[in-house]
Amino acid sequence: MILRDPVRAFIGLGANLGDPVAALRNALEQLAYLPATRLVRASSFYGSTPVDSSGPDYVNAVAEIRTSLTAPALLAALLQQELQGGRERPYRNAPRTLDLDVLLFGSARINSPVLTVPHPRMHARAFVLLPLAELAPDEVSAAQLDAVRDQGAWRLAG
Ligand code: AMP
Repeated sequence: MILRDPVRAFIGLGANLGDPVAALRNALEQLAYLPATRLVRASSFYGSTPVDSSGPDYVNAVAEIRTSLTAPALLAALLQQELQGGRERPYRNAPRTLDLDVLLFGSARINSPVLTVPHPRMHARAFVLLPLAELAPDEVSAAQLDAVRDQGAWRLAG
């Protein structure tokens, strides 16, 4: 495994099929088991109306991790996790119930064919900005929050 100096990274989690709260809880547990990675903390869970998507409301959260994985290795691990933990299995190749995105990876700017960081749409989405602002207020400006305030995203109890 190729390792790098540890970096603070933020992962966006979302699910809207099956039991989204259970899927997110499970996904957070799995993040804690990624190699060379520590789950630092997780935001509250948020409900949101689908953006660029359809179906039931989403449940979203953001996790802060500290990892020595490289960004491509982290992405590969997340894609694996999406496949393993996030898939409903009522039939073969059923829709995925879990979306995991690399939002920020330290201060890295990455534009590769498989990975764009910071995540290109994160600043336009209330369901990312609200939970990210809980964990890292310095990464989210008041103007950005103001720009998304009419989007449907609300903090869930518990
Ligand atoms: P989706 O499941 O629709 O979110 O798309 C996942 C695909 O987007 C992956 O196969 C990645 O190669 C690509 N991708 C590009 N940038 C990112 C990022 N910052 N986080 C997660 N996936 C990304």
